[in-house]
Amino acid sequence: MPHSARAALERLKAGNLRFQNNEPHVYQRVFEEFDVDAGRQDPIAAILTCSDSRVVCEMLFDTGIGDLFVARLAGNVASPEALGSLEYGVAVLGVSLVVVLGHENCGAVIAARSGQAFEGHLEELIAAIRPAAADCESLPEAIVANVRQSVAAIQATPWFAGLLAERKVRVVGATYELESGRVLFLE
Ligand SMILES: [Zn+2]
Repeated sequence: MPHSARAALERLKAGNLRFQNNEPHVYQRVFEEFDVDAGRQDPIAAILTCSDSRVVCEMLFDTGIGDLFVARLAGNVASPEALGSLEYGVAVLGVSLVVVLGHENCGAVIAARSGQAFEGHLEELIAAIRPAAADCESLPEAIVANVRQSVAAIQATPWFAGLLAERKVRVVGATYELESGRVLFLE
C-alpha cells in the first residue's frame, strides 16, 4: 500500500512531537505487538541520516519496526550507495517521501570545516561534505548546507528527477536537535 508523501510527513512530525513530549506510543510496545512479517515490508518513508549514535530515527519519530527505510552514514552523504538505497526504497518498497536528516553538532561536518586532512576512506567521506560546509560562517549553517547538498544531489539524479517532475516523490531536508529531541523540517 503506497503512503502519500503528505501523510508520511505528517506522521513523522506527529511522532517527533510525541517523542519530544516524553509521550511515545511505539516505544511502549513489546516485540510481539509489532507483528513483523518476514516476507514483506511497507515503510512510510526513506531516510538518509548520519551514523551518529544519538540520531536514532525510529525513536525520534516514534515509529515502529518496519516503518522507516533508513540509510545511515556519517554526515548523511548522498554517496552512490546511499542513493541506490533510497532508490530501492522508492522503486521497490513504494515510499513517496525521502527525508535527509542532519543533526546538531555533526562531527563529520565539524571535520569538513576543520581544514584537516584525514587518512583512509574517512578522507573521501569528509571531502564529500567540504563543498557544502566550507563557505558557511557557522556550524549550524554548515549542517543545514550539508543537508541541502544531499537533498540537491538526490534531486539531481536522473532517476529522481523524473519522479519529481511527475510529483510521485518528495525529497525534504531536516535537522535534529540532540538535546531537545526536536526535528526541524527545512521547507
Ligand atoms: Zn553526524
